[in-house]
Amino acid sequence: MAEGVIRQQGGGNGPPMNEAELESLRACPHCDALYRIVPVAPRERAVCSRCGAVLIAPRARAFSRIIALAATALILMGAAVFLPFLDLSASGMHSRASVLDAVLAFSRGMMLPLSVAVGALIVVIPALRLALILYTLAPMLGGRPPLPRAPQAFRLAAALKPWSMAEIFLIGVAVALVKVAGLATVTPGPAFWAFCGLVVVTVLHDDVMDAETIWQAMEDRRDARRARRAAAADGPA
Ligand SMILES: [Zn+2]
Repeated sequence: MAEGVIRQQGGGNGPPMNEAELESLRACPHCDALYRIVPVAPRERAVCSRCGAVLIAPRARAFSRIIALAATALILMGAAVFLPFLDLSASGMHSRASVLDAVLAFSRGMMLPLSVAVGALIVVIPALRLALILYTLAPMLGGRPPLPRAPQAFRLAAALKPWSMAEIFLIGVAVALVKVAGLATVTPGPAFWAFCGLVVVTVLHDDVMDAETIWQAMEDRRDARRARRAAAADGPA
């Protein structure tokens, strides 16, 4: 942990702050303690001195790693949804189901809202979150400025994180498999392994992704573009 990389901000008794000073303030997402941010080097971490939450944890080559992991997760998600998930056989009967079948299994009558919720929580929201992260970061590769709607996209991706429940679905499947194993022969299909890979890649992705670093990069590059445009406008006609 880097000592002294972040200073706790005192109470509201000081002189009023200007906009630049206000923008340099960050609140701990867990306990709302207010800090004035200073640069944190890759592999260093800034933690909240009150509750211990990690505030900033930049990683080396973070952008290319996040983009690679998000793209991998999206491809695995496609495979997990459309390929056969499980093969069940018992006393001569044979059944094969995909994740899409599981989602559509409740799509009739009173259970329709459950079907919609399952589809949203395990497929639509995780895929949307990954797509938003790619939209935010991929155009910024190579030091380019972000797309115009990148801040909104990244904020939405952060808001969707608690609703992205692909890994919870896999835990449910594991519990169900233990119960069914005694009654039928269960053979995991390619989608099952794709889903396992997806969970591992998602954990790695969330570990590499440091929101503070990404916000900082978006602000720095927009400021740099603005400065370049201003310099070009002031230059010789
Ligand atoms: Zn805290």
